[in-house]
Amino acid sequence: MTKIDPYFADELKKYGTDDFTACFNCGNCTAVCSLTDKSVFFPRMMIRMGMLGLKDEILSQPEPWLCYACGDCSETCPRQADPGQFMAAIRRYSVAAMEPTGITKMMFKNNPLFLLITLIIAGFLGFFLLTLKPETNYARWLFAYLPFGTIHDLGLIVFGITGISAAWGVVKMFLKLKKAAGKAPGKAIPVSQAINQVIREVTVLKRYQSCDKEADSHWHAKSFSLKPWFIHWSIMWGFIGLLAATTLNFLLKDPETTVWWPSRILGSLAGILMVYGSTLAIWYRLKKVTKAYDETKLADWMFLLFLWVAGVTGFWLEIAVFLNADMLANHLVFLFHTVISMELVLLFAFSKFAHAFYRPLALYFYYRRQSA
Ligand code: SF4
Ligand code: SF4
Repeated sequence: MTKIDPYFADELKKYGTDDFTACFNCGNCTAVCSLTDKSVFFPRMMIRMGMLGLKDEILSQPEPWLCYACGDCSETCPRQADPGQFMAAIRRYSVAAMEPTGITKMMFKNNPLFLLITLIIAGFLGFFLLTLKPETNYARWLFAYLPFGTIHDLGLIVFGITGISAAWGVVKMFLKLKKAAGKAPGKAIPVSQAINQVIREVTVLKRYQSCDKEADSHWHAKSFSLKPWFIHWSIMWGFIGLLAATTLNFLLKDPETTVWWPSRILGSLAGILMVYGSTLAIWYRLKKVTKAYDETKLADWMFLLFLWVAGVTGFWLEIAVFLNADMLANHLVFLFHTVISMELVLLFAFSKFAHAFYRPLALYFYYRRQSA
């Protein structure tokens, strides 16, 4: 049975869409979006669903995650309904709806609370990290006053909750998309073929590239290195590269005294990509270069700033290691860098970052639907 929520439009406004109800269903946005095809009709269809209060239908479709937020549709909307912003809002709503603890809901809807939670997590992580290095002078001094065991165990519990929340969200979304896909007519393409297409898309962001290639796009004649798809690609692969380098460093116990070790070279290259991408993404938002960068939510600012700070402090530490500069300032930067990096991991399940799971999943169901 189809459920209608008459308050859904008001609820969505709390996730960052201003006046999508101004839409009069002309279809310009869908016509201009280079990512729509015979099987997906967004953003117009999603907006209609939003206006009708069909929240379960929205949560069961891959469409919200197929949009790359290029903003072209918003440029052409005759009613200033800002369909691009609407698509971003339903992605935030979906992340909150999939996450079981309710923390994401609170953080997206309430900016002061979001800041407070982020600061509390940062402070707590600082203490937790010191429990991992109890032999240092700072840790010995601190734990003369604070309960070592409680902070250590609480830290492990917090990371456990993050992992469970992330897994819960992915499974919940998978089941919703699967159920909706089961009702689609026609025969789906084989699983291996769909997975192959997802991998190709994630590797080179071909669909995102097609947004920037449009003849009337602001980015059409710009160098590829300045285009939004490449910025997104740099941040994504920079972050993945840094995760891989950190894991390798941990597993292989690489010496911390040289920057020429393979894992450290990989980390430096990935760091360059991430700092490059996040710097341009922040710059475009500050300059509001196109409609897509017109209005940035606090959660998006925080996410980008965390990435940028993690990258820049990482390079600070590389230089400190290279110069063998054993100074208090560098220890503090190390603590700051690790707290920010761990906070990024912790916020994985509760922030915009969750799109790293949800988009590939949605792409999979989209590709399977191709032959339907
Ligand atoms: S272009 Fe604007 S008014 Fe037309 S369907 Fe899209 S959102 Fe609605
Ligand atoms: S923001 Fe871009 S990708 Fe998303 S719906 Fe609008 S035109 Fe399509």
